[in-house]
Amino acid sequence: MATEGNHQKINRKIIQMIQEQIDKAMIAKQMAQEKRTYLGASRWGEECMRRLAYEYHHTPTDGEEDFPGKILRIFDMGHDGETRMTEYMRLAGFDLITEKANGGQMGFYAMDGKLKGHCDGVITGGPVDLPYPLIWEHKALNDKSWADTKKKGVKESKPVYWSQIQTYCAYLDIPNGGLFTTINRNTGEIYSEHVEFDPVAAQALSDKAIRIVQTRSPEEMPKMSNDPCFYKCGWCSFRKRCHNIKEMTISTTAPATQTFPSWLK
Ligand code: SF4
Repeated sequence: MATEGNHQKINRKIIQMIQEQIDKAMIAKQMAQEKRTYLGASRWGEECMRRLAYEYHHTPTDGEEDFPGKILRIFDMGHDGETRMTEYMRLAGFDLITEKANGGQMGFYAMDGKLKGHCDGVITGGPVDLPYPLIWEHKALNDKSWADTKKKGVKESKPVYWSQIQTYCAYLDIPNGGLFTTINRNTGEIYSEHVEFDPVAAQALSDKAIRIVQTRSPEEMPKMSNDPCFYKCGWCSFRKRCHNIKEMTISTTAPATQTFPSWLK
């Protein structure tokens, strides 16, 4: 059996030290950032109202950090992927607007700024026969998540993203719907789907968001389940607090119930 050589031992230590330093710096940067004072449209499609209210009120999660370094880097890869996809879309001849004329993000705010949303872009024309203008939303997904989206469609596979598109259509007054694109981070394949506008769903999402920002405490909102063993509660980073599980400990590493973005499923 091969034994670990001195070089490998030293290298392993270097890898670990570099990663620790980067993680530490990234988490410190994230913690120093100003907390959001609004409920972002990217979260309105969250099924559990209690969880949304915890997020809006900045309730501490069961773990210490909101997101460990690895998850923050995956978020960054998502942002980088959006820039790259913008390039591809324009190269293919789509008229894609990603910023307002004055350079700001394209979006909306309501309820004195307590509700906000920023879409990836608006497509006003292109080489494919679609009912322009359309909201554009793009995500970079891992292989499993990407395949699930392709198989089931955005509404069933990624209801939070579907809801995001509905919200932008309503608030930015684009009734033709949206174009959802996603790139497979493992293979580079692209899946896209024209998502039709559903005004009833958009209204319900808006009503829900308004209820959340009107709460004084998260406990005013209903839980999606009273059973702490409910499988969706198992993914929630507020599970212990929400279900009053006493042995809540503050850990310095990612808890087993760490909330992962849906594209990490
Ligand atoms: S633990 Fe379950 S009910 Fe409680 S906030 Fe999370 S998802 Fe909602």
